[in-house]
Parts: sequence; C-alpha cells; structure tokens
Amino acid sequence: MPKPWNTRGWEPDWRKRRAQEQAAMAEIERQERARRYGNPWRSGPRTPKANKYPGDCHKCGARIEAGAGIITKIDDQWRVAHRGECPENSGKINSK
Ligand SMILES: [Zn+2]
Repeated sequence: MPKPWNTRGWEPDWRKRRAQEQAAMAEIERQERARRYGNPWRSGPRTPKANKYPGDCHKCGARIEAGAGIITKIDDQWRVAHRGECPENSGKINSK
C-alpha cells in the first residue's frame, strides 16, 4: 500500500481543483437561476425584503400586492418594486 506523499495535504491536487471548479459552477448556476427567475435571495450580500404593504412599483407604476414585490430604500424612503424585472405592460394588466 503506497504511503501518502504528504500527510498534511494528502488530498490530491486535482480533487481540490475539481471541487473548486464545481463550487464555481454551482455559484454561476445559482446566479443564472436567480437572474432568470427573479429570485435574488441568497444571490448576494443584499437580500431584498418583501413589501409588507401594497404599493405602486416605483419603476413602472403598477400596483403590487403586499408580499408580491420587494422594497428598496431610495432617498431615505422605502419604495416598492417588482421582484426581478417589471412585467411588460404591467400598467395595463393591472386591472384584470
Ligand atoms: Zn414594476
């Protein structure tokens, strides 16, 4: 049975590299998924908070029900915005 060539760092280099690659891939995939589905939680240091109260999106003006959007602090005021991208024609589909 071969002796480990290094008793402290006995894990071969390629395994470490592969683990790092997989971690990097997982991170990219996580960010990609967050971007695509507009679920930015745990994708960065800033975790958007859900809006407690209904309000109008400060980007597109459409109505957002409580908990359906996120809040962003702008000029010391909390503004409501859509989670992710604003839906197209959101001002029109509002009345459905
Ligand atoms: Zn919007």
